Amino acid sequence: MNESILSSALLGWFSAHGRDLPWRRTYDPYHVWISEIMAQQTQMSRAVSFFERWVERFPSICDVARADEDSVLKQWEGLGYYSRARNIRKAARLICEQHEGVFPRDFQDILSLPGVGEYTAGAIASIAFNLQYPCVDANVKRVFSRLFDLDFSFKSSALHKAVARLMREHMPEGRAREFNQAVMEFGQLVCSKRPDCSLCPICEHCRAFSRDTVLFRPVMEEAVKPMRIDMASGFLLHEGKVLIQKRRADDVWPGLWEFPGGVIEKRETPEQAVVREYREEVALAVRPVEKIGVVRFCYTRYRVTLHGFLCELANGDSWEPVFHEAQEGGFVAPVDLGEFAFPSGHRKLLETMRADVRYSSLFLK
Ligand code: SF4
Repeated sequence: MNESILSSALLGWFSAHGRDLPWRRTYDPYHVWISEIMAQQTQMSRAVSFFERWVERFPSICDVARADEDSVLKQWEGLGYYSRARNIRKAARLICEQHEGVFPRDFQDILSLPGVGEYTAGAIASIAFNLQYPCVDANVKRVFSRLFDLDFSFKSSALHKAVARLMREHMPEGRAREFNQAVMEFGQLVCSKRPDCSLCPICEHCRAFSRDTVLFRPVMEEAVKPMRIDMASGFLLHEGKVLIQKRRADDVWPGLWEFPGGVIEKRETPEQAVVREYREEVALAVRPVEKIGVVRFCYTRYRVTLHGFLCELANGDSWEPVFHEAQEGGFVAPVDLGEFAFPSGHRKLLETMRADVRYSSLFLK
């Protein structure tokens, strides 16, 4: 294969079809960094709207460093994988302490930031600073597996090394920024999981296409089977306020807020689970009054069905919770719930309530 022809074809495609994304207008390192972290596990259109909200709320790295954790998590709410937001805040504080608020240019300095691995460091170094580092993400591995008909398993280090080497070989000097983005974008928009090779502008350079092995590239392992679980949570109203608690730092969804509840045990109804969870988690006796609804969400390999109930205290005299499973908590006005960051299932439950005429008055000022 003629290397310069392949590079020129990819760069030519990118210059004609690359998307107009907000961080591509300035290539400000702070913007590139935030966009890279947000785009992990997130659709691009979603990442763009979260990115625009983020830079409006935190115009500079030092604005992130000065913010408390709850504000940062609230701004991240809906993107999931909240450790990314916590790491951004830690990294921002470090940049302000050690680099006077200026994003570092040196690859090792970038790599030493919390939440930044080899891929993200390469992306920032090349896209923000145009340094000759390859970005090897899932899109790049898919494109190069096909272009060179590589017979390595998708998750193997052999494939990662082979693709990194090929990216370096084909990256034109001084054009790392465009080249990395061209390959990643080509993988997202053209050479996708189910590509239409008949429309591919570089099919003449593709070995998998000429050998008819596109369907077998990259070589995928068997997917991990999803696990279904049922959970139940209670929206406990008392004197016009609702009980919420903040999850512990060492638990899943650390630092996020929730309505007490948990996994429904065998031979338990969702109502019984809520009553038990309230007793165990906050030492309160509650009575489910009516079902709010059922929402579904995914968490890693779990497919969760969450049953939500409106609850009241079973014993009106005893209403002071004792938080056994949370860092803190308390009763807040429903109208103020928007100030707290919730995991996706509880957020969906809240959205269900806001849209339901039975509860909409609770959320009026
Ligand atoms: Fe990808 Fe098909 Fe183009 Fe090959 S011909 S690079 S498999 S889209």
